[in-house]
Amino acid sequence: MTDWSRYDESDAKVRPGRGSRPRSKVRPTHADAVAGVVIAVDRGRYTVRVTGGAADAGVAGMTSGSAGAVGASDAVVMAVKARELGRRGLVVGDWVGLVGDVSGAPDTLARIVRREERVTALRRTADDTDIAERVVVANAGQLAIFAAVADPEPNPRVIDRCLVAGFDGGMRALLVLTKADLASANALRAMYEPLGVVVIETSVRRSGGPGADAGVALLRSAVADETTVFVGPSGVGKSTLVNALVPDADRAVGRVNDVTGRGRHTSTSSVMLELPGGGWIIDTPGVRSFGLAHVDPAHFILAFPDVAAAADELCPRGCSHESAELGCELDVWASDDPDRHARIDSIRRLLASRAAGETY
Ligand code: GDP
Repeated sequence: MTDWSRYDESDAKVRPGRGSRPRSKVRPTHADAVAGVVIAVDRGRYTVRVTGGAADAGVAGMTSGSAGAVGASDAVVMAVKARELGRRGLVVGDWVGLVGDVSGAPDTLARIVRREERVTALRRTADDTDIAERVVVANAGQLAIFAAVADPEPNPRVIDRCLVAGFDGGMRALLVLTKADLASANALRAMYEPLGVVVIETSVRRSGGPGADAGVALLRSAVADETTVFVGPSGVGKSTLVNALVPDADRAVGRVNDVTGRGRHTSTSSVMLELPGGGWIIDTPGVRSFGLAHVDPAHFILAFPDVAAAADELCPRGCSHESAELGCELDVWASDDPDRHARIDSIRRLLASRAAGETY
């Protein structure tokens, strides 16, 4: 008897046959596939950290954020996509099933036969008019947005756009305000705390360096046992903080490069780094544009459960939540509660940033 639990939709290959009816070909999934997570991508070659055991068990460990899911001795292997993956894309953070040589020995290649369902996805559109969306990173639970309080000057529109992409992708958000030795972070804090964003101010220049900074310590505990994607324009001090959190970050990336044999990872690709105490950081290159054409305001609002519940109950169907004049009832819900008003104002600002068609 066929055990259908061993098949998934990627196994069904439907091709028009000679007759009028399409023929379908069913392939067995690889029951012996081992679990891994894609930690770097370079021109069709995937660097995968083997997490051991059956693919499903590895995914369960990663999902729970358990520090024990991946051990320091796990092999790092190079892999290519197997034909059965078809046109499915793979990005850093994807959990996969591997077959073939998974020893990680030089000059070996494993095959990726399966991509597990993504729990979250950070997406961007090429620009706001081009709706071809692209997944940048998969399965991160948190998005940490880096902005400097000065040098370079913070750009709230950029922060807003990152937040829209993060909330839309199912991630919690952290705002890391760097170079707090240079200027006050209070104005930015006031803009983002109403959204439920955790705001952390860091400085590596105050006495004692990064090891003594209370903000760096807060960041360290905020990312512990989580998978957090770091985004931000270049020059804000993101690498300095990555290096403070993952002391051997360069070596970890170097090791990946040794395996690829294709030279240093340039700043054009993302890389996933394990934190010494458990958890992962996915460091992304400075993104120049963050098109948001793919974002549906109704889906986006779900990131704010209290507001989503009020909108569901009070607002007219299809409400854009832009303003009371346009029929939105959220002001009625806020009544005379200043915190609720601040929250709605911030959410409307984010929605407007999506509609504004800006990129950076
Ligand atoms: P990245 O491009 O975001 O990775 O930024 P870097 O980590 O390379 O840092 C850019 C510049 O900012 C470097 O000259 C750092 O020394 C400097 N920098 C980093 N953190 C701080 C900080 O907390 N305070 C100040 N004043 N400068 C910093």
